[in-house]
Amino acid sequence: MTVLDIVSEPLRLNGYPRDRLVDKVKELVDMVGLESKFLNRYPHAFSGGQRQRIGIARSLALEPRFVVADEAVSALDVSIQAQILNLLQDLKETMKPTFLFIAHDLSVIEHVSDRVGVMYVGRLVELAPTEEIYLKPRHPYTEALLSAIPRPEPGAKNNRILLPGAVANAADLALGCCFLPRCRYCQDQCKEDTPLWQEISYGHYVSCHRAKELELQGVMEA
Ligand code: SF4
Repeated sequence: MTVLDIVSEPLRLNGYPRDRLVDKVKELVDMVGLESKFLNRYPHAFSGGQRQRIGIARSLALEPRFVVADEAVSALDVSIQAQILNLLQDLKETMKPTFLFIAHDLSVIEHVSDRVGVMYVGRLVELAPTEEIYLKPRHPYTEALLSAIPRPEPGAKNNRILLPGAVANAADLALGCCFLPRCRYCQDQCKEDTPLWQEISYGHYVSCHRAKELELQGVMEA
């Protein structure tokens, strides 16, 4: 499919007037920083970053209120990642959709998110405003994840927490906490009771029996 076909498809399927289709596609590719003279080219003629822009133009064609961006920048090199992230930030301001941004790169997540949810074996284990979760995580898995963020300062010590064991089978979880075999803070209660999802401060949710007592290490200075 050409860029024109790709970006116009959701519009055509939803009955957008045919005589205004090309103009609308031009508007969309312009919005994501591509030139409309490329409309008849095929994806292989573009770089990874440009292809991502085409995908973004298509996803925003119907002006959605909610966009799931699943690993939207993970295949891109760092400088292109920054361009795409800035583009998403700009679109967030202008079009005001809600983005559910799924990624493994915690620096990227910190840059784009208002709230962060941390998942382990398919379960949400912590959810909080971005600054709070990076400053003061309340779940041991979040603490371990944050400790793995590379530090750019030369010679900086990395206090990375290495988790023992393997990731549990999400389809066959034992009784108790799903993080138990890898948690250095586990106690007897964790083996028997599945921790409840609880709000421990305004907007900060966590699923850990010891969330209120543990002093876990974040990565931001207060
Ligand atoms: S409930 Fe227990 S095992 Fe699970 S994360 Fe909390 S301390 Fe660790």
